[in-house]
Amino acid sequence: MGRWEVSWGKRNPKGGKAVRRKGGRSKGEVRSYLTGMSKLPVPTILDLAPVDAKARVEGWVKTKSLPRYRAGQILDRLWTRPVRSWTEATELPGVLREELERELPLPELSLETRQDSSDGTRKFLWRLFDGEAIESVLIPSGNRRTLCVSSQSGCALGCVFCATGRMGFRRNLSPFEIAGQAREVALRHPGEAATNVVFMGMGEPLLNWPAVDTALSILNSPAGLGIGARHITVSTVGIIPGMDALAGRPEQFRLAISLHAPTTERRRAIMPIEKKYDLDAVLKAARVFRKRITFEYVLIEGKNDSDRDADQLVKLARSLGALVNLLPLHPGGAPDLAPSSGNRIRGFADRLRNQGVEAVVRRSRGLDISAACGQLRVEVESKKGAGMS
Ligand code: SAH
Ligand code: SF4
Repeated sequence: MGRWEVSWGKRNPKGGKAVRRKGGRSKGEVRSYLTGMSKLPVPTILDLAPVDAKARVEGWVKTKSLPRYRAGQILDRLWTRPVRSWTEATELPGVLREELERELPLPELSLETRQDSSDGTRKFLWRLFDGEAIESVLIPSGNRRTLCVSSQSGCALGCVFCATGRMGFRRNLSPFEIAGQAREVALRHPGEAATNVVFMGMGEPLLNWPAVDTALSILNSPAGLGIGARHITVSTVGIIPGMDALAGRPEQFRLAISLHAPTTERRRAIMPIEKKYDLDAVLKAARVFRKRITFEYVLIEGKNDSDRDADQLVKLARSLGALVNLLPLHPGGAPDLAPSSGNRIRGFADRLRNQGVEAVVRRSRGLDISAACGQLRVEVESKKGAGMS
């Protein structure tokens, strides 16, 4: 599976959730405090891939000398029939529930704001244990409900059109903080559990590979949320080591590449990451994916929306057999950039289609609820008049 070195800090031997120590700070804590870096939460039972959670719970049941079937009952309540807290798992004896509450507590994402759009899109702003805020968007379409999840708080990559990029990097999310976005939605809206997941919320998922790797297992496993790999899409600007790691997984997760410009020169003007992983290298790394990939392309007036850009994009899309998703620029991400006009968007899409490339213009869902990457957080924080901390 080509896992990267994973470091989640010290495990809490009891598997409990993050506990703030009362006394002074350790050296490491002082260092991270001084450099302004937030700490990761201590891993909980919901941070483990289902296979590891199974081993953990079975071991726990054994040390408690409980009958073995209790392990199955407990595991069932993690992801497949989730409960908010053990108190709600009324099939278990009260004493056991109390013990679970103490020793294998279930973490939660606390809902700070929910916005519902007139088109059925729901946007969630979650407050994390350390005050960070992240977003998820649930987009219904026919029988499908696609949940757009965040993988980091903020993002280090600074694409010029993106609200999250403007925040800068805050910290990586833990596996629970990623997969838990789908769990929380299912708990709050039982008939509306996600059927599809896209990693197109805040952050660059492939710069948080260890946690994303585990979150993918949780989302996909039948003992987790049971969402088919082909219904899970990881979107990236093209972090090559992460693409290689994703390609190394046996499941057929889908890949979306945020292309946004068809040449190195044009891409550099809007996406600083191009300096580190250039277009040629990214496309080369994409070739190993067996499943059809998607190019994401935000149309920005005068930056990447000319006929020439379309023709160059045709070449790239054809060479990989990629589908192109055209996204009108959401104005909230970049006050100094303008979205391409409706006419230009149609012209651009037609030019791709006339040359045999499958292109879809994505309706900007939930425009009335600031449903583009990073915008709800910006809105809420500015209303509070607080910075980003
Ligand atoms: N970092 C990853 C995944 C999160 S960003 C990536 O960039 O692929 C997910 C998507 O949100 C990207 O495709 C990006 O183009 C889109 N996005 C960001 N800002 C936007 C804006 N202002 N308008 C429309 N789409 C935007
Ligand atoms: Fe980061 Fe993606 Fe936004 Fe670029 S578009 S700044 S990679 S979240």
